[in-house]
Amino acid sequence: MKPVLALVGRPNVGKSTLFNRLTKSRDAIVADFAGLTRDRHYGQGHLGAREYIVIDTGGFEPTAESGIYKEMAKQTRQAVAEADAVVFIVDARAGLSAQDHDIANYLRRLGKPCLLVANKAEGMTEGAQLAEFYELGLGAVVPVSAAHGQGVRGMLELALDAL
Ligand code: GDP
Ligand code: MG
Repeated sequence: MKPVLALVGRPNVGKSTLFNRLTKSRDAIVADFAGLTRDRHYGQGHLGAREYIVIDTGGFEPTAESGIYKEMAKQTRQAVAEADAVVFIVDARAGLSAQDHDIANYLRRLGKPCLLVANKAEGMTEGAQLAEFYELGLGAVVPVSAAHGQGVRGMLELALDAL
């Protein structure tokens, strides 16, 4: 079975952009993997000979009853439950938000391998701008730029090595 990585984070941090970087093919794979549900976006990719599946979260339709935040939380929980490792994405430009803290609290209790990734970090040097993310209590923050592809390969290696 290929390892499953869930991309988790509040809206607009760049989950889908990173998903597109990490996957070369999408669709028609869900049927091949027992245990994966259909209402999320799955893709697959490989790093050398190491194959993996990625789940993008947030591409959902909030229903009137549940509202967007409940549905988001549900999507995140389900994706994380299916995953072997979680890639938790924060926005290096926007900085920490209350929602980032909520997600971090949830992930810390979960006990699954979790990699903290600061996206939109193109042109940033490690240090001041990234230091605040250590507050989340998830260890080192890995800077990437999903839009430019910077740091993505190294991040993926870390995520797969954490399994
Ligand atoms: P999602 O809501 O988490 O799936 O975020 P998206 O992937 O839709 O990206 C949200 C916005 O951030 C879009 O306008 C992207 O173009 C932008 N974005 C994504 N990755 C980067 C990045 O590495 N650098 C910058 N500057 N913008 C990015
Ligand atoms: Mg998205």
